Amino acid sequence: MTRERGTADEPRLIEQVAPPTVGLVCQRHAIFVDIGETVPIAGEDALALCGVPVTIGPAPEEMLPGVPAEVVDCADCQAIVWDEPSPRPAHARPRLYIRRVGTVPVHIVDVEGLTATTMTSLCRTVFHLGDQLEQLAPGAGAPCTRCLLASLSRHVLTAA
Ligand SMILES: [Zn+2]
Ligand SMILES: [Zn+2]
Repeated sequence: MTRERGTADEPRLIEQVAPPTVGLVCQRHAIFVDIGETVPIAGEDALALCGVPVTIGPAPEEMLPGVPAEVVDCADCQAIVWDEPSPRPAHARPRLYIRRVGTVPVHIVDVEGLTATTMTSLCRTVFHLGDQLEQLAPGAGAPCTRCLLASLSRHVLTAA
């Protein structure tokens, strides 16, 4: 089975509605595809900006028989999307705090480190779609020292 696989000739955002993990309200996530990256097609998995894995495809029409699906924008994705046009100080930018399940260090992923299938932390650790990851609240867990140093030096650079 051969399918046409396109690559993005410019950075683009894809919207994908995902069924909720709890409740009945679907979430509209945004997926960032960078230049030269493969644009995910129906049936493929991708990472939303907020770090949630989603499957590309049509949105569910109804969550219960006869009840149209309700969709809300994912607040975490929106925060990242709308943050892009207006450069703000680095510390105000949304960040993801990610660690591999079963490991200790919590890595920091900046918006620039996000693509449709990978997340690159400030210490250049690359997380792939399908890795067993958990997302933590800011300040939770033991931060990766190199990520921490990198985030501090970015603050200094921005302030200078
Ligand atoms: Zn999202
Ligand atoms: Zn790190």
